[in-house]
Amino acid sequence: MMVINHRSKRIFIKHKMCRFCADASLKIDYKEPKTLAVFTTERGKIVPRRISGNCARHQRMLALAIKRARNIALLPFTTAKVRMKDYREF
Ligand SMILES: [Zn+2]
Repeated sequence: MMVINHRSKRIFIKHKMCRFCADASLKIDYKEPKTLAVFTTERGKIVPRRISGNCARHQRMLALAIKRARNIALLPFTTAKVRMKDYREF
């Protein structure tokens, strides 16, 4: 990843590291929604690899684990957008 500091006009090369490769103690487990939730957006979507920086292998394992967790209701498929308009009647 390239980060350009506009003030100093310098280019920094920042390498994104797969979190699961870097830390062997981190496990991808569908029974642990807390670790999986980090890799989902607020709306429940899986964060793409180019954003999360995961390697292909771990991203695959993660996606599978998230889908399994969704199926047993540990993670949401989606979340309903709450509109203020709907609340005004109450
Ligand atoms: Zn990895």
